[in-house]
Amino acid sequence: TVVLGIETSCDETGVGIVADGVLLGDALATSMDEHARFGGVVPEIAARAHLHAITPMVEHALGQAGIGFADIGAVAATAGPGLATAVQVGLAAGKAYALSLGIPLYGVHHLAGHAAVDTLEHGPLPARCVALIVSGGHTSLLLIGDLARDPVVHLGDTVDDAAGEAFDKVARLLGLPYPGGPVIDRVARDGDPTAIAFPRPMTGPQDAPYRFSFSGLKTAVARWVEHHRDQPLPVADVAASFQEAVADTLTRKALAACRDHQADTLLLVGGVAANSRVRALAEQRCSAAGIHLRVPSPRLCTDNGAMIAAVGDLLVRADISPDRLDLGSDPSAVLRGALLHGTR
Ligand code: ATP
Ligand code: MG
Ligand code: FE
Repeated sequence: TVVLGIETSCDETGVGIVADGVLLGDALATSMDEHARFGGVVPEIAARAHLHAITPMVEHALGQAGIGFADIGAVAATAGPGLATAVQVGLAAGKAYALSLGIPLYGVHHLAGHAAVDTLEHGPLPARCVALIVSGGHTSLLLIGDLARDPVVHLGDTVDDAAGEAFDKVARLLGLPYPGGPVIDRVARDGDPTAIAFPRPMTGPQDAPYRFSFSGLKTAVARWVEHHRDQPLPVADVAASFQEAVADTLTRKALAACRDHQADTLLLVGGVAANSRVRALAEQRCSAAGIHLRVPSPRLCTDNGAMIAAVGDLLVRADISPDRLDLGSDPSAVLRGALLHGTR
């Protein structure tokens, strides 16, 4: 079965086409530039941009795959979480394709997409693994089984900001352009990660081992910048030291979760998994601990359509019954499984 996947939860209009674990087409448009002068994504601008981009992206992806509408056997669309109006555009488009083509629709959870996309590059997931989903809106340590059938177990989430959010806020603080994550990654290459000893939040013996907190780290960076107002800001050193604190905290907790839950595989996904230092430190620590690390290519870590098509493909192959066409979206849905409205 050929699955059409639609992703519109934030500022990326992504359309992917997947059949039996193989990525056939992957088209991406972004309204990023339209948000830059606001310093963050403006929901109404994003929603309008999705409306303009969705049909061209579907046709572009079909063209890449060398197929037509008649070849599509199922549609998967992000039904949440995300910006309410943005999600609605993609879900409505998914419903329209399903209805007009007479094919099933799956309303999928965006974060399941971040995890499932790895199967396109590295094959089926193991029976059980620890997943660290680290993105612009989420930072979660999970136990994942069969993604299509089993409920996801939350080991711990962030108690305040997501790691990607911290990257974006610290970038703004340093006067770097939006979106901050990739810019900090680039700027940090010329910096010394040991220049400033920023805190490793929630890593004390009394702290919850799998929970995260990044708001205090962001404040620590702000305070350091404030205290050094009288000298030129060493942007590269601050960026590198902040990035090191995030990478250290993320990988330390992920490795502890693997060890405590006897998981031999760590799945590292989401936009922040594109970060070069997070990837390098995860590789180093996993290899030292004998843990198999799975992390998608950077371009598949950030939002895209292939990830949603990958979830649809897993659901189709597991013979999961599709959603009704009147399914609703949920901008703040917690990850329970591949389907937004639960496993069945
Ligand atoms: P969510 O998936 O939680 O709904 P989102 O869809 O906005 O949020 P993603 O597209 O998965 O998030 O990731 C975007 C986030 O990843 C942004 O915060 C961005 O700054 C961050 N990011 C992207 N590339 C990098 C990088 N190389 N280094 C650090 N952060 C990065
Ligand atoms: Mg984005
Ligand atoms: Fe995302």
